[in-house]
Amino acid sequence: MKIFENIHLVPGPINSYLIERENHCVLIDTGMSKSAKSIINTLKSNFPEKPLEAVLLTHAHMDHIAGLETLGQLYGPEVVCHESEKPYIIKSAKLPPREKFFGRAMGIFEKLMSHSGYTVDRIVVDGEVVHGLKVYHLPGHTPGTIALEDMETKALFCGDIVNSNRKGNVLLPPKRMFAIDYDQALKASIKMLQISKPSVLLPGHGKPIINPKDVITTYLEKYS
Ligand SMILES: [Zn+2]
Ligand SMILES: [Zn+2]
Repeated sequence: MKIFENIHLVPGPINSYLIERENHCVLIDTGMSKSAKSIINTLKSNFPEKPLEAVLLTHAHMDHIAGLETLGQLYGPEVVCHESEKPYIIKSAKLPPREKFFGRAMGIFEKLMSHSGYTVDRIVVDGEVVHGLKVYHLPGHTPGTIALEDMETKALFCGDIVNSNRKGNVLLPPKRMFAIDYDQALKASIKMLQISKPSVLLPGHGKPIINPKDVITTYLEKYS
């Protein structure tokens, strides 16, 4: 699905986004390991001349990073994440446990399924601009969760900081059972929507929200 001329949503159960730059492409999140195929197809059919030069990770959950295994081997992209998230991506540390029992049980399942860790080439901090994307550090879902705002189009890639529904007309708060600190995660989502004025909201799960101004107003009225 084409969001802008240079931004594509990769089809699949978990959202990854491909951004075309002048001489290369950038990917936001990789989905599960099976998602790599769909990312490769989207890349080949839309931007055949442009190598995948960087992968930016919103956070370390498996459903956002596991595609790195295939993509790393194939393209060798620069892998970028927030400094507080790096230990969980390279697997030098385990993510803190989630608040809720079901979330903790899921965490154990993920550890069983898990890989040995991925190389991170570059760490970023709040306010930094990387590959034309401004970094917002918004911890709560995980310690180093980030949102990324495209400087040119003002598209906001928000990982699991907020979710949208299937129709893409309602903004949903972060999922409590997957958060390390739900109160912090909710505050982070409010902060993100107060400080950025996105042209489109691109979540990790659910449909993109085009022209999200009213949806954001409703969210802030309800949760802040
Ligand atoms: Zn997550
Ligand atoms: Zn997720």
